[in-house]
Amino acid sequence: MHSINSMKFLISLIFLIFSTPSFGQENPNSLELNSFSDFPFLKKIGDIKNSNIDKKLNEALLDIKKEYWDTTAYNPYRKVKVNFPVELKFDDSTYSSPINMKKVVTSHFGWRRGRAHRGIDIDLVTGDSVVSMFNGVVRFAHYSRGHGRTVIIRHYNGLETVYAHLSKYAVKANDTVRQGQLLGYGGATGNARGSHLHLCINYKGISINPEYLFDFGKENAIRSKNIWVTENWAKPGLHSSKKQTKLKVLQTKEEAIASLEKRKVVYIVRRGDTLSRIASKNNIAMSSICKTNRIKKTSTLRIGQRLILEYTF
Ligand SMILES: [Zn+2]
Repeated sequence: MHSINSMKFLISLIFLIFSTPSFGQENPNSLELNSFSDFPFLKKIGDIKNSNIDKKLNEALLDIKKEYWDTTAYNPYRKVKVNFPVELKFDDSTYSSPINMKKVVTSHFGWRRGRAHRGIDIDLVTGDSVVSMFNGVVRFAHYSRGHGRTVIIRHYNGLETVYAHLSKYAVKANDTVRQGQLLGYGGATGNARGSHLHLCINYKGISINPEYLFDFGKENAIRSKNIWVTENWAKPGLHSSKKQTKLKVLQTKEEAIASLEKRKVVYIVRRGDTLSRIASKNNIAMSSICKTNRIKKTSTLRIGQRLILEYTF
């Protein structure tokens, strides 16, 4: 007992020597990285020279790179089938903001100009620093067609964060990175209308609506330490790039399954109503109303007519 305490003290002391002033804001994100929980004060990979810790870290790094580790492909998981709902775990309640200033989301995850927008756009100026949201390893730092210069970090909970349209890289593939570490500089490379950060959150190659997991306000909050993701949160067609989808975080498998049962509401047509007005007032797609009620977008509505509004969320 005594020797364990003195070892802990020694390790804490070493950590203090190496810690930076920003230590208070740094947090390890390491889902399923049980070896980290033995050393909760260990924030900086590679800083501490202790054979036991090194061994555990090496094991964790091996684990993260064990499957589908390809530093040349944007998505190495092409042949993987993801069975939703999927449970994601976080061992902290905050992430590091990918940019060092107020985050303005200029475009959300969802349908945009007839195409799927699988991430969110955060406003920045070319040359602004872009940093890693969590601890992890650089899986990809390469030009990728529409995404331009792109850095992808794989994290210990199985998520990958994608930082696209960069002007310059500050890391290379296989680098170990800490939460908050510089990855590159923002820009407008690839298919970008003006400089911004296109941020994707991928699970085994499937993009999840980032705003379902993270609040992009100034608190940098992770919505829950335990989040169940249904397939609806990975389908851009169910979301609009123009606004954040209303959300309720699903914290158990039961909740996730129950959420998939569509909620139906009866709407009675009033004077002056049009399909598009009903759609926007009730936060539902016009095509969904048409499909549920077997009517056309051009159909005339009668006052008193009953329409079923079917909600997916
Ligand atoms: Zn984008």
